[in-house]
Amino acid sequence: MGSFLNVKCDCGEESTVYGDSKSAVNCKKCGNVLAQPRGGRAKIHARILEVLP
Ligand SMILES: [Zn+2]
Repeated sequence: MGSFLNVKCDCGEESTVYGDSKSAVNCKKCGNVLAQPRGGRAKIHARILEVLP
């Protein structure tokens, strides 16, 4: 993936996460895991709104 993603958590909070993130990313508001590192590309658990160029 290698790009930044705009994602929306189930709680409605929008966040920007890196598609190849090496560390887990949690929602700032509710703490839900948005991205989980998985040996290269992160698994995205939230709804992807937009892939940033
Ligand atoms: Zn949330």
